[in-house]
Amino acid sequence: MQAPKGRKQTPHLQILAGPCAARMLATCLALSFAWIACARQKSPDTPQTVSSTLLPATMNSDDPAPKPSINSSRAMQYVRDVVAFGPRPIGSPNHKKLETYITSHLKGVPVEDDAFIAETPEGKFPVRNIVAEFPGTRDGIIVIAGHYDTNYPLRNTGYVGANDGGSSTAILLELANQLRGKKRDGYSVWLLWTDGEEAVKQWSATDSLYGTRHLAEKWQKDGTLKKIKAFLLTDMIGDADLNIEQDMNSTPWLENVVLQAATRLGYQSHFFGRSIPVEDDHLPFVHMGVPSADLIDLDYGYNNVFHHTPQDTLDKLSPQSLEIVGRVLMETVRLLDKM
Ligand SMILES: [Zn+2]
Repeated sequence: MQAPKGRKQTPHLQILAGPCAARMLATCLALSFAWIACARQKSPDTPQTVSSTLLPATMNSDDPAPKPSINSSRAMQYVRDVVAFGPRPIGSPNHKKLETYITSHLKGVPVEDDAFIAETPEGKFPVRNIVAEFPGTRDGIIVIAGHYDTNYPLRNTGYVGANDGGSSTAILLELANQLRGKKRDGYSVWLLWTDGEEAVKQWSATDSLYGTRHLAEKWQKDGTLKKIKAFLLTDMIGDADLNIEQDMNSTPWLENVVLQAATRLGYQSHFFGRSIPVEDDHLPFVHMGVPSADLIDLDYGYNNVFHHTPQDTLDKLSPQSLEIVGRVLMETVRLLDKM
């Protein structure tokens, strides 16, 4: 976390100043006066309550469409497989094994790589975003993304990132199973495993989001960006006690669609209990005007205590949480297809 300008960091904030995937700005709640200073994006003067900003106004409770399903035990098995590789920071042999694992589950699907060398404070590293493309009948693309690299500074601590890195990798693999071989009557859906999300030293605008910063620029240059109707990001979505944040850096109308999807599936109690600004892989796209929503739970253990610690392990996760987020993503895509 970047210290608010002109304000001395408290020890509490100092602890949080370490590398942070999705920046844990929620702790600012403990220092309510610091709220605005902690919001790195343009944000409202006061924290917004969900009830005043996000109402599922267009919800049609009579919608007869079948509700989506996913195989939650298979999704959980993916997390176990991924965690079994061990720490998976950029540039590591385990990372390479995971790349192969992901692509081996995408046989028969058009896959594109965005591979490049990133300059970081710890030197040069290969970074590889992986994109699986499921074409639709409608002009436009919905991207569903999540990072697969794990925290670099913790690489020698036994840190396996079951939730932070593992859960997002796994849910995308399960979504690929659901999309594979089916005709899409709607927008194209691209599944994006992002890389280099984590800072290598200390989170900053230049030490973080290596993969998505590169990809957003590439897609802006080649014209892909303007075809993207929605960028849906998942991160840390496996916590058995699932509380998806209402992210103040995300696009309000798209957050609203996510809430509609969650409500239709009866999952609204897991969504948007609090509003906080989150820095995550959606930011490069937000900055380029792409409607984006980050589905993230930054309340991982009491006061987010497991985040970026060797305690981020499988036993904290639940297949049910993967199922909730997977189904909400699919329902969100269905709602977007109709808009
Ligand atoms: Zn992280």
